[in-house]
Amino acid sequence: MENCIFCKILNKQIPSEFVYEDDYCFAINDINPKANKHILVIPKEHIESLNEISDTKIIQKLFEAIFKINEKLGIKAYQTHINTGKEAGQEVMHLHIHILAD
Ligand code: AMP
Ligand code: ZN
Repeated sequence: MENCIFCKILNKQIPSEFVYEDDYCFAINDINPKANKHILVIPKEHIESLNEISDTKIIQKLFEAIFKINEKLGIKAYQTHINTGKEAGQEVMHLHIHILAD
């Protein structure tokens, strides 16, 4: 998807270090961290938000990725945030789940 920051990161048009990657999703450190560890887990498919999901399997895949990332990074206590819609604070219109941990 043109002009989508997360699609550009996936396609290596914007440099970013992947902390995790599988067939369905990838994860990066948030550029503006709001906790000691602030990771974004992002589906490879350009889905605008939770409201545009056509197959809920992606939700399972995203959470499986979160569990693997947390195990890898030793994160046991954490928050997960999903902002859906501009009015709710969604800035990047490509679905992502925030992991926040101290
Ligand atoms: P949201 O408000 O839920 O859409 O969150 C978007 C998040 O993406 C914010 O926390 C931003 O700091 C983060 N972000 C924006 N651009 C980048 C980038 N190039 N690399 C990493 N994180 C980014
Ligand atoms: Zn995108």
